Amino acid sequence: MNSRHSVSLLICIIVGVIAGLFVGWYWGEAATNVAWLGALFLNTLSMLVIPLLVSAVISGVTSIGNVRQLGRLSGVTVSYYMITVAIAVLIGLVMVNLIQPGVGVSTEGLQQPDEIVRMAEEKGIGDILLSLVAPNLIAAAAETNLLPLILWSVAFGIALASLGAAGRPAAKFFESLNEGMMLMVSWVMYFAPLGIFGLIAGMFGAAGSTAAFVARISAVGLHVLTVLSGLAIHFTILTLILLFIARQPIAYLVNMLRAIVTSFATASSTATLPITIQCAKESGIDERARRFVLPLGSTVNMDGTALYEAAAAMFIAQAYGLHLGIGQQSIIFVTATLAAIGAAGIPEAGLVTMIIVLQAVGLPIEGIGLLLAVDWFLDRFRTATNVWGDAVGAAVVHRYIQNRFD
Ligand code: ASP
Repeated sequence: MNSRHSVSLLICIIVGVIAGLFVGWYWGEAATNVAWLGALFLNTLSMLVIPLLVSAVISGVTSIGNVRQLGRLSGVTVSYYMITVAIAVLIGLVMVNLIQPGVGVSTEGLQQPDEIVRMAEEKGIGDILLSLVAPNLIAAAAETNLLPLILWSVAFGIALASLGAAGRPAAKFFESLNEGMMLMVSWVMYFAPLGIFGLIAGMFGAAGSTAAFVARISAVGLHVLTVLSGLAIHFTILTLILLFIARQPIAYLVNMLRAIVTSFATASSTATLPITIQCAKESGIDERARRFVLPLGSTVNMDGTALYEAAAAMFIAQAYGLHLGIGQQSIIFVTATLAAIGAAGIPEAGLVTMIIVLQAVGLPIEGIGLLLAVDWFLDRFRTATNVWGDAVGAAVVHRYIQNRFD
């Protein structure tokens, strides 16, 4: 897609968002009749994720070719993830300590959210480590369980690269599979304006009347404000990293807006992954960076989620009138990071892994009840931040490759 095309597409997507907002708010419930357009778009994207991810990671690793370079690249990538997630959690903690959104919020009548607790039972820290290896790859693919697939693809890519000439036919196959998938992604992108329109109209339509929506938001208004301003600050810091460390122009952000808006509409970094990779490709990001960093980032690098988990846990503590000292806030710091790594790139996954954070500092799980009504809304903003974090990561690694490898 040339740049004139992508700008026109972006404009159509923005029109789709505005029309979706208008229809959702104006028609309320009735707007859910167009939600199928969004579901179709989401399914079309989701069906590309597995073949795209596997072929991208394998061909990314084989194009790096040598295990030492791969090791250095992984080092830079993981350091970037860790540093930016740490900044995000810190921002979350500082914002809640400053604004104190939970003070005075009533916790009366809150009940344990059984469904979320049941889902979280499989999400202990040990389980997160265990889930790195799937006994059955097909089952992992069927459940969109990406982390074991990525690790398997990295190992397979290394094996192919180590085979030398004997590994080349398979490497070429995955390279060509990846090119084919990317072409399909660029086709699906043309459907994005309508799909995003359907998603946004359906989402705001389902949220009920404007008055009900505003009432729900304002019940925990300061919490919403704290999270949104924290995310905005982190988004800005990532942009500064883009400009001064990755040394990409602001045009990179403009180009990425298609992925960012899609992530807002789908609330899923995983479903957005094909578009994120396509936008990075169009921005000229080295294939070794985009094929390796973006798939991994879409499942482990979740700055927005980490910031949210820390802020929400503190918010619950404040609502229950519990004072958390520096020691307990440090535990929140560590567990919010792990919970974000463990969260899948799907809607409201952060709410489930939130239980790890609450349990680690002994906060009442019922407190999640305070977040339920607005989580779907905040999820959109944290997913957009997650995707922007991945995109900036790819740019940072791109610069590293240019400086060190070429
Ligand atoms: N929806 C988020 C994502 O896909 C995860 C979360 O924070 O719930 O990145």
